Amino acid sequence: MPDYQHHWKDSTPLHLPLGKIVCVGRNYAEHARELNNPVPDTPLLFIKPATAAVHLTRPIELPTGQGEVHFETELAVLIGRPLTRASASEVTDAILGYGLALDLTLRDVQSQLKQQGHPWERAKGFDGACPLSPFVPASALAGDNIHFTLDIDGERRQTGETRDMLNPIVPLIAHISHSFSLLPGDVVLTGTPKGVGPLRAGQTLSLALEDLLFLQTRVS
Ligand code: ZN
Repeated sequence: MPDYQHHWKDSTPLHLPLGKIVCVGRNYAEHARELNNPVPDTPLLFIKPATAAVHLTRPIELPTGQGEVHFETELAVLIGRPLTRASASEVTDAILGYGLALDLTLRDVQSQLKQQGHPWERAKGFDGACPLSPFVPASALAGDNIHFTLDIDGERRQTGETRDMLNPIVPLIAHISHSFSLLPGDVVLTGTPKGVGPLRAGQTLSLALEDLLFLQTRVS
């Protein structure tokens, strides 16, 4: 049974339930291009269930027999207040914290689903599909650009700069709240920069969010 619970960076538990994880696809133009996907003119949204969440610092268990499992490093936004058809200022007030997530993707399964015109849940929503870091308070990241990185076995693989997002964080979350009400404890994943690729057993992943969060995990 999944036993994920939100934490602050200092290990204090956050007493908020994770209801759902709302994700945006193709929010960085160069990532859309690397997978030969068109850049959408409205945000491409999908949801991972709460049962997909696991603690990022625990070893990553790859699903077996379903083809390649890709890493996608993403900035995760923790929602602290209810948002329904929200304005930009309501969204700003509702952002409680930031963290990092891996949007793990069964890429071969997703390609088949896309070809058939089917939903992506089997590729994106399986148990363990969303390793999540602890969160840092939103006030610690007040700047207008947020920087994050992923290294695998000591080699830089992904660099994210939120100023490169096609849909910046606040308008993105406002847009989401017109389709899905967001509740305290929900998480929004804001898309992945270029550099995605398959995970292999034994790899060590190091993730950094500014100089605030440094995490290491490995693929078991
Ligand atoms: Zn993603």
